[in-house]
Amino acid sequence: MAGLKHNKFNALKREEIKNSFKTKEFDLVIIGGGITGAGIALDAANRGLSVALIEKQDYAAGTSSRSTKLIHGGLRYLKQLEVKLVSDVGKERAIAYKNAPHLVVPEKMLLPLIKGGSLGKFSTNIALWFYDKLAGVTGKDKRKMLSKAETLAKEPLLRNDIL
Ligand SMILES: Cc1cc2nc3c(=O)[nH]c(=O)nc-3n(C[C@H](O)[C@H](O)[C@H](O)COP(=O)(O)OP(=O)(O)OC[C@H]3O[C@@H](n4cnc5c(N)ncnc54)[C@H](O)[C@@H]3O)c2cc1C
Repeated sequence: MAGLKHNKFNALKREEIKNSFKTKEFDLVIIGGGITGAGIALDAANRGLSVALIEKQDYAAGTSSRSTKLIHGGLRYLKQLEVKLVSDVGKERAIAYKNAPHLVVPEKMLLPLIKGGSLGKFSTNIALWFYDKLAGVTGKDKRKMLSKAETLAKEPLLRNDIL
């Protein structure tokens, strides 16, 4: 439990903070100390609200401890034609990148196209172009189609016969 603003968070003051919940009034009570609850608590406290955050286990003990920590851009939702969702997720990724450049590090990914695979060169090129537009991807983060020779130069262990 943490009562932000009224009580600076401190494990040594846990009992004191817990007891204060019986008498103090808060602007906002959040149940769950995963990334969602922590994010809401931070945002609300930054806006000057007094916030109580109640967690039944430990902070980030739930799903938040399992995350791979990818700020993904929602590309997979494009396949399901969730156009608005792709746009929203892309915008949120851009905000995370702008607000926390010390935490968000861009990672290049290589998507090899193989003979008989489920992705064709033409359709992948169009889909990724559309994705860049929707998600507001700019500059050097935009998709780049490579030739077979360029791909093998980057990843020489890919199978030459089917690439
Ligand atoms: C294997 C894996 C990999 C993932 N990788 C990524 C990734 O790379 N990028 C990404 O964006 N997302 C990823 N996710 C998804 C991401 O982890 C979740 O969307 C996110 O952690 C959900 O956070 P949350 O705060 O909503 O929920 P949780 O982290 O589950 O937090 C909920 C908290 O509420 C507490 N709680 C529940 N009931 C009560 C109660 N009655 N009283 C008090 N406390 C209560 C729980 O103890 C828990 O701590 C991944 C998920 C998994 C499982």
